[in-house]
Amino acid sequence: MMTANAHRFDPSVFREYDIRGIAGGNLRAEDVYRIAGAFAAKVAANGGTSICVGRDGRLSSPELADSACKAIADSGLDVIDIGLGPTPMLYFAAKTQAAGGGIMITGSHNPPDYNGMKFMFAGGAFYGADIQSLAQPAPPSAKTKGIRHKRDINTAYIDKLLATYDGNRLLKTAWDAGNGATGNVMAALCGLLPGQHLAINATIDGTFPVHHPDPTVPENLKQLIGVVKERGLDAGIAFDGDGDRLGVIDDEGEILWGDQLLMLYAADILRNMPGATIIADIKASGALFEEIERLGGKPLMWKTGHSLIKSKMAETGAPLAGEMSGHLFFADRYYGYDDALYAAVRLLGLLSRSNRKLSDLRKALPQRITRRNCVSSATIRANSPSSPRSKPGSRNKKRTSTPLTACG
Ligand SMILES: [Zn+2]
Repeated sequence: MMTANAHRFDPSVFREYDIRGIAGGNLRAEDVYRIAGAFAAKVAANGGTSICVGRDGRLSSPELADSACKAIADSGLDVIDIGLGPTPMLYFAAKTQAAGGGIMITGSHNPPDYNGMKFMFAGGAFYGADIQSLAQPAPPSAKTKGIRHKRDINTAYIDKLLATYDGNRLLKTAWDAGNGATGNVMAALCGLLPGQHLAINATIDGTFPVHHPDPTVPENLKQLIGVVKERGLDAGIAFDGDGDRLGVIDDEGEILWGDQLLMLYAADILRNMPGATIIADIKASGALFEEIERLGGKPLMWKTGHSLIKSKMAETGAPLAGEMSGHLFFADRYYGYDDALYAAVRLLGLLSRSNRKLSDLRKALPQRITRRNCVSSATIRANSPSSPRSKPGSRNKKRTSTPLTACG
């Protein structure tokens, strides 16, 4: 018989922002059971009575999701099992179903044999020491078991996304799910959004037969670029394996990176919310922070990590934040978490309203300078006493007055 202390985890699965390991290897159903039980205990201690559970399309996900659901019920909390879908749909469920937390079984963009867990706790991020604290050996043991409810959240989620669309000109686009967990929702959106929208690789297949679902790798965007150029489309949209990161192609087949997308969103949002704080991670180009300031916003540079950005956003009340990796967060008319499907609909809305091509919008953006170049040129300027642009005595004041703009 297993004693309370018999369970041993591989400590490497407890990461900064999530749980991740090789399914059936260092991350087994029994591990997920213990981790979900420890998470449920925290939700219960915080007054929560239910937890939403979702899963991506990996072959190992149904078993691991079952294990998480069982642990939650054995902990005495009710389970709202939303089944297969993208991570932001799980966040949406946790927010709208008034759940005390959410667990997403997903390996995100990692190879097919990987899997993992992402969390939402009391409507916010759950990371760092909180994740480490889930490595508790004791199994759940509530006297009264919770109930597992299966709930279809797809329609409510798709309706929310559709209600967001504020375009007027009809667009032609292609969307690539990379056979990841966005497939079903993405295909439904493509059929319902105004305009003509072509869904490719929409069949959810955990073996990722066509290309890897990671839009930050240009190789993975080749097929989408080909479709956009061949058919003369207005834009191409791509998602990572679990739908919390966005990739965008313009009408000329050029990739728009995270900081360029943020410039477009910032211009749109700051028109209605002058002076608002916009957050980006330290990997973004200096041009982004300068552009936010030029548009009348307050740029705030913050540490990379979707949970860290999400928390900073909640703390500062920023309506928009993003990372170079394609995590984009909207608290303006939305919930403040990283939802790439929502970000895609917002982008098409602003493109449609602009009456310009996406490539024209891209070309009108300030030139991107990598942060590394930006930092070194700033360092050179700051260290050069003979620089004609710096008056003695004014340099320090100037540098400290703009710590989070430009090269900050
Ligand atoms: Zn992801």
